[in-house]
Amino acid sequence: MTKFIFVTGGVVSGLGKGIAAASIGLLLKNKGLKVAVEKFDPYLNVDPGTMSPYQHGEVFVTEDGGETDLDLGHYERFIGDNLVKECSLSSGQIYSEIINKERKGDYLGGTVQVVPHVTDIIKNRIRNLAESSDADVVITEIGGTVGEIEAESFLESIRQFRSEIGGANALFIHLTLIPFLKLSGELKTKPTQHSVKELQRHGINPDMIICRSEISIPDELLDKVATFCNVDRKYVFEGIDVDTIYDVPINFHENEMEERICERLGIPTERKNIDKWKTLVNNYKNPEKEVKIAIVGKYVALADAYLSVSESLKHAGAYHKCKVNIEWVNSEDIELDGADKYLTGLSGILVPGGFGNRGIEGKIMAAKYARENKIPYLGICLGMQIAVIEFARNVCGLKDANSSEFGLFEHQVIDLMEKQVGVTNKGGTMRLGSYPCTLKENTLAYKAYGEMFIDERHRHRYEFNNTYRDILKNHGMILAGTSPDNMLVEIIELKDHPWFVASQFHPEFKSRLYKPHPLFRDFVGVAVKN
Ligand code: GLN
Repeated sequence: MTKFIFVTGGVVSGLGKGIAAASIGLLLKNKGLKVAVEKFDPYLNVDPGTMSPYQHGEVFVTEDGGETDLDLGHYERFIGDNLVKECSLSSGQIYSEIINKERKGDYLGGTVQVVPHVTDIIKNRIRNLAESSDADVVITEIGGTVGEIEAESFLESIRQFRSEIGGANALFIHLTLIPFLKLSGELKTKPTQHSVKELQRHGINPDMIICRSEISIPDELLDKVATFCNVDRKYVFEGIDVDTIYDVPINFHENEMEERICERLGIPTERKNIDKWKTLVNNYKNPEKEVKIAIVGKYVALADAYLSVSESLKHAGAYHKCKVNIEWVNSEDIELDGADKYLTGLSGILVPGGFGNRGIEGKIMAAKYARENKIPYLGICLGMQIAVIEFARNVCGLKDANSSEFGLFEHQVIDLMEKQVGVTNKGGTMRLGSYPCTLKENTLAYKAYGEMFIDERHRHRYEFNNTYRDILKNHGMILAGTSPDNMLVEIIELKDHPWFVASQFHPEFKSRLYKPHPLFRDFVGVAVKN
């Protein structure tokens, strides 16, 4: 029978619930259990696809085209299994489903209410994932912080769920903060006590508490948390700040958290080591060299906006035993001061995905700088589109070349794909999810992947305009990857350049610490030598 773990957070947001849930998933999988993970988000957007990265961080895209919360990225990177759209549920999805049903008359005259209609949908989601994944353990992370008004229906649902399946089959984990007061030099448990009281007000007593803290928490304080929060002492864990998120599973493992979880849920398992993971993390933490790579984007003030990209650079760095220092460059600054000021002396330039025309010219200047100065360049989605625009303008002489995303131009080298014409709804309507791509022999991409047929994840509306294929090719652009029917250009490269590769897809969603993405791996590899 499937067992269920629910992860909630208290005191403040940003404690790393997602990493904690992912780490627990990793440790359980390491024990040979089949794990499924999902994230519930209390906000009213249907998905994060329409939200600004400044509001929400990056949008993580699943194989099946779900635009999901970035925590799903952590789950995939730690646990290693691909997730599906259904692993991400927001209040917006629930309400839109209910209101559609209500308008159709499906409730047959009944009053539609939070309990049972909203809570039923939430509980069904948990059950459905258990069934469809056939998992031994389903981990459900509840987004937001306990006490927030939007989270109430989720807490009520998991409370009901537990009583329906029986307490022995569910485990509530609460992640809280034990703040360190610098002035008095003390760690304080009171906020944790309050947060647990708030949970209890919803009828939930946590079975396990993970106390996040800047410094190591003395045993007496963990004892105190156990007593005041009504939790068995052996289920109170310290979650100390670490150098890298990849250390979290190691810490949990050393405190035998996964053993306690399995005992509590009545899952008979043996202690397993995590030496393989430790070696990977060790390589990552002990680099022999360093390299500086620029990420040129619009949302550089919030690293979470490019989370999977920066994680992918870390994976590639670990592979080459090299620390990748990211230089965050705001493309609007390049527009003001020129590319030299920000890009001189860097070993690689990466232009990630993006939307809208703000900062576009600065990105084009960055691509030009990389091309002319023969600096390794990795363009992702918009980063490919601007590389095409730059090449069309400055090499092919198509002076006003641009993307139709940014206005009407004589040479729309990037244009709306046919299927997108007439689409007005913004949510969930792009080219989304995994698509096949065929690589051309003797290209950098082919060399990187070591195979001809690949699949990669997409999230965009615009495409390379085929009208310009010949002129761009004749001037030295290589179409290194296309859709199998050759209709869509998926990867471009440049002749006479050490490493200039740009893809219409997002390679960053498939990179893992134990399996760096081939494009990132080779990009960092050449940058190290640069
Ligand atoms: N704005 C571009 C498009 O929609 C690129 C999207 C992206 O970089 N993800 O095609």
